[in-house]
Amino acid sequence: MDSPLAETPREKLEAWLRYYDDLNLGEFFVDRRIMGKRSVELPVVRPQQTAPAAAPGATPAAATSAIRNTPPAALPVVQAASLFEAIDRVEGDTLELIRENLGECTRCRLHEQRNKIVFGAGNARAELVFVGEGPGHDEDVQGLPFVGRAGKLLTQMIEAMGLAREDVYICNVVKCRPPENRKPEDDEVATCSPYLYRQLEVIGPKAIVCLGGVAAQTLLKTKDPISRFRGNWFDFRNTKLLATYHPAYLLRNPSAKSEVWKDLQKVMTLLGLRPPKTSR
Ligand code: SF4
Repeated sequence: MDSPLAETPREKLEAWLRYYDDLNLGEFFVDRRIMGKRSVELPVVRPQQTAPAAAPGATPAAATSAIRNTPPAALPVVQAASLFEAIDRVEGDTLELIRENLGECTRCRLHEQRNKIVFGAGNARAELVFVGEGPGHDEDVQGLPFVGRAGKLLTQMIEAMGLAREDVYICNVVKCRPPENRKPEDDEVATCSPYLYRQLEVIGPKAIVCLGGVAAQTLLKTKDPISRFRGNWFDFRNTKLLATYHPAYLLRNPSAKSEVWKDLQKVMTLLGLRPPKTSR
């Protein structure tokens, strides 16, 4: 008699599929684009949570359910957080400790021309965190995030959501102004972003909104252009994350404001927010 352990590969596969069928997991996806490239990477997650249209009056629970039930869409593959990022979690961490650790940072070349480090500002217990790219001229002068023209527009967006700036937390991927407002280089992002990860870990928001491609690409570990995944929900370390256009882009392209507002309405639905009543 054959040993019960002497299964053929086909029998093993059938048993494995039956097991997952019992768990009600009926579909499997293998992304062939990443096959053969995963020698040292953690599992790849597919950001299939295409956000549902914000139903008027929908509860956060209904929105979450809709996210879960939305079928996978053709979206970019996003890698899970790396082991190196995982060790950025510091026992007993606080925003004050992170700022202290940062000190008068000279870890990357962006320190050379900066005036002030722009650490971040807002509610340390915020349910909503906005992450931008890096400080601009006004931010560099004042040491505060989003205080220039784009910052004013961000404030309007926050208030349109029924919140005040003090209710949310606002920070950037890099904390020093890149010269001539250029995009931060990969090595600068890699050097500075661990402090951002620690900030997000300490605050523990319900939602993160990435403003612009650099913030979204940094947190989602993708090089895909933001236009490919803007307005979709992703999981970032058990927090819902959505990318939308940067307010500076909206200043140059006002017609994109309606798209951003749709994105923010999805965030409002998730957080159970309603826009303030206006008297007309
Ligand atoms: S951008 Fe970040 S890592 Fe670079 S010098 Fe400034 S604080 Fe330090």
